[in-house]
Amino acid sequence: MTFNHFIDGQWQPADSQQSFVTINPATEQPIQSVAAGNSVDIDKAVKAARKAFDHGPWPRLSGKQRGAYLRKIADLINQRLDELARLEVTDNGKPFPEAKWDIEDTAGCFEFYAALAEQMDEQDSETIDLGEPAFTSKAIKEPVGVAGAIIPWNFPMLMAAWKVAPALAAGCTMVLKPSEVTPLTAIALAEIVEQAELPAGVLNIVTGTGPEAGQPLAEHPDVDKMAFTGSVPTGSRIMSMAANQVKNISLELGGKSPLIIFADTDIEQAVEWIMFGIFWNQGQVCSATSRVLVEESLYPQLLERLTEEAKKITIGEGNESGVLLGPLVNEAQYQKVMAAIERGQGEGAKLVCGGGRPEHLHQGYYVEPTIFTEVPEDSWIWQEEIFGPVVCVKSFTSEEQAVQLANDSRFGLAGAVMSNDLQRCDRVACALRAGIIWINCSQPTFVQAPWGGYKQSGIGRELGHWGLNNYLETKQITSYDPQQRWGWYIK
Ligand code: NAD
Repeated sequence: MTFNHFIDGQWQPADSQQSFVTINPATEQPIQSVAAGNSVDIDKAVKAARKAFDHGPWPRLSGKQRGAYLRKIADLINQRLDELARLEVTDNGKPFPEAKWDIEDTAGCFEFYAALAEQMDEQDSETIDLGEPAFTSKAIKEPVGVAGAIIPWNFPMLMAAWKVAPALAAGCTMVLKPSEVTPLTAIALAEIVEQAELPAGVLNIVTGTGPEAGQPLAEHPDVDKMAFTGSVPTGSRIMSMAANQVKNISLELGGKSPLIIFADTDIEQAVEWIMFGIFWNQGQVCSATSRVLVEESLYPQLLERLTEEAKKITIGEGNESGVLLGPLVNEAQYQKVMAAIERGQGEGAKLVCGGGRPEHLHQGYYVEPTIFTEVPEDSWIWQEEIFGPVVCVKSFTSEEQAVQLANDSRFGLAGAVMSNDLQRCDRVACALRAGIIWINCSQPTFVQAPWGGYKQSGIGRELGHWGLNNYLETKQITSYDPQQRWGWYIK
């Protein structure tokens, strides 16, 4: 059986009758056949979303009514928590406790935007003082219209929620194209919105590859807004496509984020956060702190403790108890990370831990936790996103040098600093050119706080009320007192 697209509230087969198969990265075995969408399927989905926006109830419901649907979706996700987490493990490879956390956050994201939708009813307009008694003016927010969303494979269901929940809260309708590498929880989301009796056409989900299904979505003239999360090259392509129609876009792209550790940091805390910053989700995290900068006097002891702990991580299939590192998502990612490790060695960096496939695992796309030192600043592995469990560690001698090394990147998604001197932490946090800064930790992410990058890491912000604004237009409505004469032409 093939899983079909969800368009206009109906399960519809691919126009081409073609399908593709998703693979379990731990076993390298097929899991499920899924409809391979193309421009015809995308056109059907956009037409359904257009009809639902222009003529359906969705944008005309009160915020409270839309919020009730979002709360129902959150409840249905919570009811299937373990099952959805297992599905994510099978499709993506991540350890089960991480997958469970993702699904809890997915439900939490729908709840958060339900609350913001409800608040929209009270904050529906802002009065503007024009300083002219004959005029009154107000600003109102309206949904952008039909939104397109294209998402990656690293947090499949959560990335869908980060776009679907605010778009629906705002009153937009949407066409979502999940990654072809991990489409299964997006299909489960379609089942959930069907069960929640969301009006037809409000959320449409088309599965397929980037070039076959993603590109026609980004290029579709009836899509008012494109929200994209993925790599810089694809983001740049989406931006060019949007530019042809001056389409509203938001982009969440890659990173090569620094973690600066000063010598007064507790060594065990430092090791914990370095590891969480790069080994969580197998390092396939856009904000992973993959460049670690350690003050010189702490460097030798820290490196020793880090290597010791990295070697102890239990690697295996995500459902096995105690596993903290699963396989990479697919063979292409495995080859990419292995090639990066080889390239690092060729560039003169010193491999001090890992670098290969774990000896006990003969099948699955596993890569050991890998640590490089003596990494040249202009090397590929210091500058480019590897998106695997590979960290580069370097020493520094002054705060100024640490900040300079940290900011020497074309990316600016995230950064982190650790020290007992909180004033120093604040100073460094302000000096780092990135959209997300952690102090004395790395990676914890909250739906209430803005998420997005500087420089080539993206445009716009998701999450919090910033995420809702992504899907809203601002309209001014200005009135003139009809009792007064304007007196320009007619005196
Ligand atoms: P990718 O760019 O290869 O693919 C992302 C999505 O774009 C997929 O759905 C894919 O099918 C689609 N796509 C590919 N080519 C396309 C095209 N020509 N037209 C339209 N759509 C196309 O990225 P990926 O490998 O899936 O994900 C990894 C990347 O995502 C990393 O660079 C990571 O840093 C980034 N990421 C960023 C964030 C963030 O919040 N900033 C979050 C997660 C992942």
